Amino acid sequence: MNSKIWLSSPHMGGTELKYIQNAFDTNWIAPLGPNVNQFEKEIENYLGIENCAVLISGTSSIHMALILLNVNRGDEVICQSFTFSATANPIVYQKATPVFVDSEPETWNMDPELLEEAIIDRIAKGKKPKAIIVVHLYGMPAKMKDIMNVGMKYEIPIIEDAAEALGSKYIGKNCGTFGIMGILSFNGNKIITTSGGGALVSNDKNLIKKARFLSTQAREDAPHYQHSEIGYNYRMSNILAGIGLGQMEVLDLRVSQRRENNRFYRDLLSNYKQIRFHTETVNSRSNYWLTSFILEKSTNLSLTTEQIRKGLDYNNIECRPLWKPMHLQPIFNTAPAYLNGFSEYAFTHGLCLPSGSNLTEIEKDRIAACLLNILD
Ligand SMILES: *Cc1c(COP(=O)(O)O)cnc(C)c1O
Repeated sequence: MNSKIWLSSPHMGGTELKYIQNAFDTNWIAPLGPNVNQFEKEIENYLGIENCAVLISGTSSIHMALILLNVNRGDEVICQSFTFSATANPIVYQKATPVFVDSEPETWNMDPELLEEAIIDRIAKGKKPKAIIVVHLYGMPAKMKDIMNVGMKYEIPIIEDAAEALGSKYIGKNCGTFGIMGILSFNGNKIITTSGGGALVSNDKNLIKKARFLSTQAREDAPHYQHSEIGYNYRMSNILAGIGLGQMEVLDLRVSQRRENNRFYRDLLSNYKQIRFHTETVNSRSNYWLTSFILEKSTNLSLTTEQIRKGLDYNNIECRPLWKPMHLQPIFNTAPAYLNGFSEYAFTHGLCLPSGSNLTEIEKDRIAACLLNILD
């Protein structure tokens, strides 16, 4: 049996252990320390944003953003439906209601027109949404200009879920830096990883200051433990921040490697006109975290994406269907949703291909042979 080819696996740069060793040598084995401070600085510099707090996950970072925007029981939060459940779950942690909005076919992200329709309808029904969560799916920048305009028009703050989009740019600006707050994830499958981790970023100093306070148990400045607010234990450890520092050294390299994978698949499958790749617009540059495609409706290919997935799986090559939209998930089936059918079509006709930055030429040859064999 051939060895397993993963969809997206961790890819260390080589210097991570040096930072961890340093943490051990200085006994900074805690959720604070020099690696944490330096990791935050490097993220700020890379993104071109004023403030960053590194936390235990992307999910906790979204949760923190909602807490900072005062989202509470009974509130409504607009959320992109076509995403991973971690985008929407924190809305429910706050006992608020998610309102799902479908995607447009170009970037696969929140449709700005449908977003405005949803806002108008929610206001007509008596409640103005408290926040909007937009996602840059698979690293592809959303139409941020239009989405920001809608947010400004109705004065609703925007949280950018850039968990999959570190290194992606829109009109020359980094994803995660458009909204009032942005979040990143350093989970094991993301473009860089700390094994598990996340970050909350913002140009608003007070928001990040408050995030640091709340994520360390809301402990006030007193020799005894004084609390007037509910706190969380959400801060990233100094050990994991050390992995992050090593990974930051290779981030740009990882982006170019993922973009190269994307080029490889486009060249390989260029004869199959029914395969429509997830493609950047003139305004955007994607990190191509996962190369993915949709089979067009007018297909004369009799195959389904599930047959392609199974064929690859049989050869020990991991592929995955596109995210199942949140409005189709049993857990969210009573939530309001504003739909155009796109995400449901994409889910049932789409596939993510192995996209790790550590794919070898031999592995790519194996994938190519297998894919062409299935398609012919
Ligand atoms: C990975 C991911 C998250 C959650 O990040 P974790 O660090 O795993 O908690 C949130 N949103 C999207 C779109 C993701 O892909």
